[in-house]
Amino acid sequence: MDAVLQAKRNELMARWQEIYDLTGIAALLNWDQSTYMPVAGGAVRGRQLALLERLAHERRTDPAIGRLLDELQPYAESLPRDADDAAHLRVMRKIYERSTRIPAAFAAEFAEHTANSYMAWVAARPQNDFAAVRPYLQKTLEMSQQMAEFFPGYAHIADPLIDFADEGMTVAMIRPLFEELRLALAPLVATISQRPPVDDSFLRRNYPKAQQIAFGESVIRAFGYDFSRGRQDETHHPFMTKFAHDDVRITTRVDEHDLGSALFSTMHEAGHALYELGIDPAYASTALDTGASAGVHESQSRLWENIVGRSRRFWEHYYPALQAAFPAQLADVDVDAFHRAVNRVSPSLIRTEADEVTYNLHVIIRFGLELELLEGKLSIDDLPEAWHARYQENLGVAAPDDRDGVLQDVHWFGGPIGGSFQGYTLGNIMASQFYAAAVAAHPAIEDEIGAGRFTTLHTWLRDNIYRHGAKYTAQELLLRVTGQPLTLTPYLTYLRTKYNAIYGLL
Ligand code: ZN
Repeated sequence: MDAVLQAKRNELMARWQEIYDLTGIAALLNWDQSTYMPVAGGAVRGRQLALLERLAHERRTDPAIGRLLDELQPYAESLPRDADDAAHLRVMRKIYERSTRIPAAFAAEFAEHTANSYMAWVAARPQNDFAAVRPYLQKTLEMSQQMAEFFPGYAHIADPLIDFADEGMTVAMIRPLFEELRLALAPLVATISQRPPVDDSFLRRNYPKAQQIAFGESVIRAFGYDFSRGRQDETHHPFMTKFAHDDVRITTRVDEHDLGSALFSTMHEAGHALYELGIDPAYASTALDTGASAGVHESQSRLWENIVGRSRRFWEHYYPALQAAFPAQLADVDVDAFHRAVNRVSPSLIRTEADEVTYNLHVIIRFGLELELLEGKLSIDDLPEAWHARYQENLGVAAPDDRDGVLQDVHWFGGPIGGSFQGYTLGNIMASQFYAAAVAAHPAIEDEIGAGRFTTLHTWLRDNIYRHGAKYTAQELLLRVTGQPLTLTPYLTYLRTKYNAIYGLL
């Protein structure tokens, strides 16, 4: 690369670092708002966050970025696709074009609308008042459809919205995959439902907070979460957040009468954090210093939480330590009973509390409703009833109201309708696919988990997935790492093997 080109590249990277830093500062303010901020700080905090978002948007859409990208395009095209610089330029161009296609006035109106919609939802949900949010939801739907129209040439109107979160995924790919999964899960759920219910009542004894946090932190430390580059704090709705390459934090919520809540959410968020912390340091503060997609990110949280953290082998090692932390509470519970309890399958109303088998049905219901709304086949007025009907049909449960029905999740009240749910199930599917590849490469991983050691698994994930950051799309990553496109087989094998053992279905 000649000196002129090098200077342009450096200018582009320096400009992008400012965008990265503004995003990190906003994340810090958000984290503070969700953890330690006094209530009265809220009003000005909203203004500060809006200012940062405006500054970041101005920088992302600065015509100078477009000019530099154009000038560097011949250089980008001269490189092999998997060269780092080719990826840097490809990802920055993607973000630049996405940001500039949505008119600034529309983006501002949508941000203001979703802020109002979120506040309306916060007030309406406890009151079970769908009518109060109905006009907001109607406008969200119309604006979501308009947003898709800024990206013409799509095959399905949801495709541009899905692309924001899961680049390259389309309705044409996801819909048949989800239908195949739904048809495979239905008989599993039906069979398990006929079995005697698993007793998990002991999980709701009194488990003091300090011991819960200490135990959870000992587990994620063993996973490889580096507390010199992160920390854990308490919040209402657990999340992972990143301020910089070496500052990736997680949060948890402790319920002293629910042992599983903090423990598994800690493992989940640590999985997200391991991904971010494992990105190649050479990508620090660049557009590649983030995960590949919502689905790939969720694959890592689910892998550590479920495939590792809810496995029989894991608890063979960790159960004695858990019993030592809670000797009175768990004295009469053996490891088998505990393992069954934390994997109890029970069709329920609430997505975030669902077990591994029924969880995807919650997602598939929402994904299907999003498509029908965007297609104009389902009206907002008919949405609450459609929700209840799908739950009855797919899970055999009926919510008594809209509070645990259509008002249950924040997504449609804090963002567009479309693209917000598929990543959860794509993540579950990918988690099994990645894990199967890891075990095929290193069969000792399973025994190591049984000995409380995770180095081989963590190293494999870092070398094959984490270090690449946003360099590859999910499909590219799957092909590179597993030799296969997205496929259901490892996931269905995982679920059937695991739940056949727990429920004695074989
Ligand atoms: Zn997650």
